[in-house]
Amino acid sequence: MKKTSILIVLFLVIISCKKEVVIQPETVKKHLYTLAADDMEGRRAGTKGIEKAAKYIEGEFKRIGLSTYDTLKDYRQTFTFTNRRTQKEITSSNIIGVLEGKGKKDEYVIVSAHYDHLGIRKKEGQLDSIYNGANDDASGVTGVLALAEYFAAKGDNERTIVFVAFTAEEMGLVGSRHFGKEIDASKFVAGINLEMIGKTPKTGPKTAWLTGFDRSDFGKIVQKNLEGTGYTLHPDPYTNFNLFFRSDNASLARLGVPSHTFSATPIDVDKDYHKASDEAETLDINVVTETIRAVAVGTQSIISGKDTPTRVVLEEKKKETKE
Ligand SMILES: [Zn+2]
Repeated sequence: MKKTSILIVLFLVIISCKKEVVIQPETVKKHLYTLAADDMEGRRAGTKGIEKAAKYIEGEFKRIGLSTYDTLKDYRQTFTFTNRRTQKEITSSNIIGVLEGKGKKDEYVIVSAHYDHLGIRKKEGQLDSIYNGANDDASGVTGVLALAEYFAAKGDNERTIVFVAFTAEEMGLVGSRHFGKEIDASKFVAGINLEMIGKTPKTGPKTAWLTGFDRSDFGKIVQKNLEGTGYTLHPDPYTNFNLFFRSDNASLARLGVPSHTFSATPIDVDKDYHKASDEAETLDINVVTETIRAVAVGTQSIISGKDTPTRVVLEEKKKETKE
């Protein structure tokens, strides 16, 4: 055999061995329906229901083969806080799993979503009292789990990826604030937060929007990576909603980390937002799946260490230093 034909055969063997990893709608559906099921009781921080969700996420992190974060002995970062509204003490956990980088081990990309929701609220005349939080934010946690499995199977992440399911977001970004207190922010090169990715947004089919688009060049990097895929990313269309500061990305952005939230939901007209009707059946599995796929492709050059987004500068901070 000629040298060239040997090389061709070798090349074919190599590409056939390298299995293509694809995020499947069946996997997405399984995570979503499990996390938004009635037996999770609305996943309110400090309840039995959220504990069930925590166990499910831990089980998935273990199956995927993630390691533990920093000095933690397992996937839990447990802490106690006082609920601002009820003044009750609550003990709850962020669930954290790590996929160590192949090369740039000390450069972290965080992939996050909150797994808590509003729990059970009995209201007169209302038959359903369980706030399942399917879109808000079982859909985002589904994304975290699917991306963990995806990047673990690909096995080529140069940077370390830290996957986090935050608790008590609904009580005032409590879990992410706690996480932020314990980190060296300079090690975190980017934050990918997912919130409500289950419905076709105002920006149209096969699109998502990003909060704080102009606060770093993270969004531009994602747009460039998505070119040719048919999926597009847009700046947050609800500029007066202050969404950049209303989800867990804010706890890291305040420390300078280019940490943004992806969303796919027309929140201005969404009738299920913070209602008992936020059920898995109201979501479009294809929208969830293609958004997670777009996040994977869109952030690839950040995961691989090729692109590093600019740090977030808060206008508010700029003003402070001028004065
Ligand atoms: Zn949310």
